[in-house]
Amino acid sequence: MIEQLDVKYISGVGPQRATLLAKELNIHSVFDLLYYFPYKYVDRSKIYAINEVTGDMPYIQVRGQITTFETAGEGRGKRLIAHFTDGTGFIDLIWFQGIKYVVSRYKVHQEYIVFGKPSVFNGRVNIAHPDLDPASEVQLSNLGMQPYYNTTEKMKRSFLNSHAIEKMMQNVMPLLKEPLPETLTPEIIAQQHLMPLNDALRNIHFPQNNDALRQAQLRLKFEELFYVQLNILRYASDRRRKFRGYVFHHVGAFFNTFYRDYLPFELTNAQKRVLREIRADMGSGKQMNRLLQGDVGSGKTMVALMSMLLALDNGYQACLMAPTEILANQHYETLCHQMDGLGVRVELLTGSIKGKKREEILSGLQSGDVRILIGTHALIEDGVNFAHLGLAVIDEQHRFGVAQRARLWAKSTQPPHVLVMTATPIPRTLAMTLYGDLDVSVIDELPPGRKPIATLHQFDNRRQQLNAFIRKQVNEGRQIYIVYPLIKESEKIDLKNLVEGYSQVCDDFPDLTVCQVHGQMKPALKDEQMQRFVRGEAQIMVATTVIEVGVNVPNASVMVIQNAERFGLSQLHQLRGRVGRGADQSYCILVTGFKLAEDTRKRIEIMVRTNDGFEIAEADLKLRGPGDLEGTQQSGMAFDLKIADLARDGQILQLAREVAERVVEEDPTCELPKNELLWQQLKKLRKNNINWSAIS
Ligand code: ADP
Ligand code: MG
Repeated sequence: MIEQLDVKYISGVGPQRATLLAKELNIHSVFDLLYYFPYKYVDRSKIYAINEVTGDMPYIQVRGQITTFETAGEGRGKRLIAHFTDGTGFIDLIWFQGIKYVVSRYKVHQEYIVFGKPSVFNGRVNIAHPDLDPASEVQLSNLGMQPYYNTTEKMKRSFLNSHAIEKMMQNVMPLLKEPLPETLTPEIIAQQHLMPLNDALRNIHFPQNNDALRQAQLRLKFEELFYVQLNILRYASDRRRKFRGYVFHHVGAFFNTFYRDYLPFELTNAQKRVLREIRADMGSGKQMNRLLQGDVGSGKTMVALMSMLLALDNGYQACLMAPTEILANQHYETLCHQMDGLGVRVELLTGSIKGKKREEILSGLQSGDVRILIGTHALIEDGVNFAHLGLAVIDEQHRFGVAQRARLWAKSTQPPHVLVMTATPIPRTLAMTLYGDLDVSVIDELPPGRKPIATLHQFDNRRQQLNAFIRKQVNEGRQIYIVYPLIKESEKIDLKNLVEGYSQVCDDFPDLTVCQVHGQMKPALKDEQMQRFVRGEAQIMVATTVIEVGVNVPNASVMVIQNAERFGLSQLHQLRGRVGRGADQSYCILVTGFKLAEDTRKRIEIMVRTNDGFEIAEADLKLRGPGDLEGTQQSGMAFDLKIADLARDGQILQLAREVAERVVEEDPTCELPKNELLWQQLKKLRKNNINWSAIS
C-alpha cells in the first residue's frame, strides 16, 4: 500500500529530508505526509486593484509597474522602497535585505505581478519582501489556490520550506492510483453529505476551487471531531453499563429543613435550575458525572451544600474536596456556619490535621457518624475510608485530574455521584471535547445586588495616582490586593519583582500593614499571612497568583494587577473574581507598560469591556487556541487536533457529537456489522495516540 511507503522514497525527499521530517513533524510515511494539512491557502488567480487594497487583507496579488526606487533609513532600519502603481493607486514595495540584488533585478516601467501581505505604515499601504514575477511569465489560471504549510526554523534552514512541502505533495498525488480506504461508513457519508476521504485528501492540498476546499475541510474536520466524540462516548457508555449509580429516591428532612429555616437568601433561578438537574441525575439510577460551571461569585457552594444534603437524606455520606488548604478551611467554616443546628457532623481533613484528631475523624467516617467530610487531596489518600460515600463534590476542577477522579471512585463499593465545580468557564465546544462524558450545568446568573466590578487600564508610570486611589479606598475601610506575575521559567526575576514591589508598597504606605504571599514560602507562613488579611489585620496583600483560586474576603474591593500584560485572559478574570464579593463598589486595575503587543491590547480591552466569564473564555480560546487554555493541560487531556479548530468549528463539533451519540446508542456493544469500520478505526486511533487513551 502506497500510504505506508516511507517518505524518503518520494522524489524530492531522500534520506536527509526524511530524517528532518520525522524529527520535526513526526512524518514518516506517505500517509503521515498526506495528513499534514496546509494552514492556509492563497488564491493566486485573483488580481486586486491597488485602490482596493487595505492593510488588513491576507496575501494578495496586484499587477502594475515600478515608477521609482528610493532608499530610506539608516543602519538596521535601512530599506529600499519601490513605488508601484497600476493606475488606480500606489503601493510601496519594501525590502530590508538584499537591496543591491533587488535593484539590479527589477526594472522600472515593466509589468510585474506582485504577491505578498499588505500592511499599513504611516498611513501608506506597503508590502514587505514581496514576490515579483514578470507579468508575461505568469499564467494566472495555472496558479489557482496555493497551499501553505507550517515549517520549523530548523526545516527552513535546510530549505525545507512550505514550497518544498508543496512540491512533495505534488509528487505524491500521482502515486495515489487507487482510492484511499474510507474511514467513515457509507451511511454516515451519505447522511451527512460528506466528501469521500479520497477526494478530501486531494482537495485539502490542491483544491480545485473554493467550494471543493470547503467540502474537503468539512469532511476532515467532521471526521476528526467525530472520532474524538466517539471515543469519549464509548468510554462513558462502557462505564454506565459497568457501574450503576446510587438512587437517591427522596428529598428528606435535612434538605427540607435547611431550605425552609436555614437558607440565608433566596436562591437565584439559575441555582434552582441546576439543583433540579442534579436531583434528577442522582435519582435516575445512573451514576452522575456533572460539571457545574459558574462564574466566580455565582454561588456554587450553596448548590454543593444542598446537593450534599440530598445525599444525607438518602442515608449516604458526602465529601467536598478543595484544591488548597486555605480553601478547604473556608468551605469548612462557611458550611459549619450555614448548617449550625441542623445536627450534621461535618469534619475537615487536610494534610496538617494529624494524630488523635485525625484518627477520630477517620473512625467517624468509617462508622458513618461523620456525614460530610471537607478537605484537600488528603481525602483521596489510602486509609481514608467512608462507610457509604454517595456524593463527592470537587471544587475548582482544573487542579484536579482524571487520575484523582478515578481514585475517588474506589472510595465506595460503587462509584459515588460526582459533581465537579469550576469557575474557569469552559466554552461549550471545549467542554464537549474535554469532558464529553460529563454532563454540564451552568449557573449563568449572579446573586442580586452585586455591583459589577469596574475595570481600568493604567500605564505603570502613574504610580502616584494609583497610590492616591489605594489610599482613598483604605481610608474608606477597604482592603487591597496587589498581584505580581509568577511564571515558571523566570521564577527568580518574578520573585525579585514581587519582593521589590512589596518593599515599595511598604515605603509608600508606612502606616499600613502589608502582608505578602508567594509560592516559595513555607505553607505555614503563607497561611499565617493569608489569615492576617482574611481577618482584616492587614490592609494590603502583595501576592503572586497563589491567591487566584477561590479565596473569599468580601471586604477586599480593589485588585491591582501589576505587569498585567504577562497574564492570560482567564487568569486575569480569575484574579478579578477575588474582589466584588461584598456590598461595595469594587475595582480591578490592570497596570501595564506603555508598549503593548496587539494581542495584549486586545486582552486588556476585553477585560475592561466585560465581566462575563463565558465571553472571556470564548475570547481566550480565539486568541490563544485551545491547547493553551488553562486547565486542559492539568487534566491530562492534552489533545491534538490536526484540522478542526474548537474556537471556530463549534457547529461541526455539535454535528459530530450527535452522529457519534446515535452510533453508540444504536450499537452499545459494538456488534453491528455496518459499524465495524468505525470500531476498527477507533481502535487504531486509540492505539496510536496516547492522549486519546488518557481520556476517560
Ligand atoms: P463561587 O461560585 O465563586 O464559589 P460562592 O459560592 O463563594 O461563589 O458565593 C459567593 C457569595 O455569594 C457567597 O458569599 C454566598 O453566600 C453568596 N450567595 C450565594 N448564592 C446567593 C444568593 N442566591 N443570593 C445572595 N447571595 C448568594
Ligand atoms: Mg467557590
